[in-house]
Amino acid sequence: MLWTRAVSPPPAPALTPEDRAVAAYVGLAIGDALGATVEFLTPREIQHQHGVHQDISGGGWLRLKPGQVTDDTTMSLALGEAILAAGRVDARAAADAFDAWMRGKPVDIGNTVRRNLITYRKTGNPEAPPSEHDAGNGAAMRVLPVALATFGQPPDRIAAACRAQGHVTHHNLLSDAACDTLVAMTHDFLAGNGLDAARQHANALAVLHPVFSWHGKRRDNPSGYVAETLQAVFQALFATDGFEACLVDVVNRGGDADTTGAIAGMLAGACYGPAAIPARWRKAVDAEIRQRVELQALALMKQG
Ligand code: MN
Ligand code: MN
Repeated sequence: MLWTRAVSPPPAPALTPEDRAVAAYVGLAIGDALGATVEFLTPREIQHQHGVHQDISGGGWLRLKPGQVTDDTTMSLALGEAILAAGRVDARAAADAFDAWMRGKPVDIGNTVRRNLITYRKTGNPEAPPSEHDAGNGAAMRVLPVALATFGQPPDRIAAACRAQGHVTHHNLLSDAACDTLVAMTHDFLAGNGLDAARQHANALAVLHPVFSWHGKRRDNPSGYVAETLQAVFQALFATDGFEACLVDVVNRGGDADTTGAIAGMLAGACYGPAAIPARWRKAVDAEIRQRVELQALALMKQG
């Protein structure tokens, strides 16, 4: 007997962790390129100059070409190449890669990164001396390759990898906690767990270190202090329901906008997947960089 039934569209294929990894890395580069235009501006200045800043247009204090990325993306790529070459997350390999990156005269470089890489040249010790002052966002902004290379690994190995990478330039408890949290959130997103799982990690961080508490006042004009950076990122991520809305929210807060953009882009890319990334941003970001991050994301996932 013949059954007639309503034809429903086939269910969309579920996103794989690899799809989400690629979207995270492309999201990082897009957020960096988008935010760099308004880095160090206040929300009022952004509004005056751009209305709502939502196009990858270059410029900014670094006078970037449209689509050009900054240290957030290029340090991540240098780290990822070092992980792939060494076959694991290795402090010395990372330090050498960052040192080579610095010799290449990057378009921007953080003070803590520069100081501790110069110290590394003198001492040969790939672990920076501990410092309560080194709580900048420089280790957190480049943590994505570690997250991809350690996906599915046991917690102690993940933590050791985070320490090895972060301490090359930022040997600091708050930086460590931020890196751990971003990696845990990224792993949950890669596994297909949504915003609620990520919110639990953000809340746990704020309980452990109340300086990260992100439930209070709106964090506009976030500085390079990692606690302010993550407050802005968490507020934008958990107040929106899509990749584009999250990135537009966070970069229009100004301040260290390329870095909040990069971190938010990484998280939102992993959360929402490649189809959520607007085509105009995908086309606008530097094409060579986009190819490199896509390939490296897949290579790092194979390594894990
Ligand atoms: Mn930057
Ligand atoms: Mn920055």
